[in-house]
Amino acid sequence: AHVSDVKVFIRTRPTANFAKDLIQYLPDGQTVNIHLRKGSRKRVVNNQLCSWSFRMDRVFHDVSQEEIYASVAHSVVLGALDGYNGNIMCFGQTGAGKTYTMTGATKNYKERGIIPRALQEVFREVEKRTNHAISVYLSFLEIYNETLVDLLSSVPLEESAALGGMSIVEEAGGGVFVRGLSLHQVHSEEEALNLLFEGDMNRIIGAHTLNRNSSRSHCILSIHIESRSRTLSEAKYLTSKLSLVDLAGSERLGKTGSEGQLLKEATYINKSLSFLEQAILALADRRREHVPFRQSKLTHALKDCLGGNCNTVLMANIYGEAAQIEETVRVAMYSQKECLCIQVRKLQKEVEL
Ligand code: ADP
Repeated sequence: AHVSDVKVFIRTRPTANFAKDLIQYLPDGQTVNIHLRKGSRKRVVNNQLCSWSFRMDRVFHDVSQEEIYASVAHSVVLGALDGYNGNIMCFGQTGAGKTYTMTGATKNYKERGIIPRALQEVFREVEKRTNHAISVYLSFLEIYNETLVDLLSSVPLEESAALGGMSIVEEAGGGVFVRGLSLHQVHSEEEALNLLFEGDMNRIIGAHTLNRNSSRSHCILSIHIESRSRTLSEAKYLTSKLSLVDLAGSERLGKTGSEGQLLKEATYINKSLSFLEQAILALADRRREHVPFRQSKLTHALKDCLGGNCNTVLMANIYGEAAQIEETVRVAMYSQKECLCIQVRKLQKEVEL
């Protein structure tokens, strides 16, 4: 698989138990080698040891939130202000740092993530770009088991879930919008952060009252930007959408947990993540008509933010611990630019790995 039009990154969650013999970041800043060894049986086929080499646009190990924003999001946010749709998605196991990367540490402004920094930058640019009248709107959508939930709705979550009034609509010009999803105009960073906080709270409260695990849903915060030139006689009018996506945990369930609600959630997540992968891979081929966007709410809602005229970023968040190494390889495979199986060695009994 080869992804060319999507920028892909990998970030390790910091840990005191970093498995430096299993995960090796190469000095080129783009390559990570991951080795699977004894104990990771599923990959050790016929007693063989596999080592993988993954190439990304960049790999991040021990990197600050500020640097992540500068390397991953800054250009996408500026693109959105210039009229290009953008899409930044965090992918990975539950607990690997997706929410930390997207939203950041809630109580610590210094450790804020991509979303609050993007909002800050948008409003700084709005002030700078005095030749333009720029309006900013936010929407916050959660997708749980293929159900759409408005995280900024004034209607209580249980009621709006019962109403079920939302649907994804494609416009003639190629745009996609969610009918019934509330759109909120914001005039300042502070106003935007308050809405973000409200949406995050609604996600937590909703998960609690409806007995869902919040890591089992996808969340899409969209920043809608409308820009009108104040100087040109022919009114230049640009609209764009920047989607910032915290994807559901990608982990496979163990055999024991796979029944009832958990199984249903896992099935929905696996399907939607697999359609997303197909959509991303198809960006490299130019055969977009074959992409099954409508087969899942996630890819359908993101259709106008995946490829084409759009800046798309996929961030893989991984654990650094040996115990998680198999899932880590799966996550890296999903997000790879190039992946090479660099070595397959026969395991010998006397070799203690
Ligand atoms: P996920 O959203 O993937 O389930 P979280 O973002 O909630 O994972 O991260 C799990 C925990 O690890 C949180 O307490 C978070 O603050 C912490 N964490 C994750 N990544 C980092 C990081 N890069 N630096 C510091 N803490 C982190």
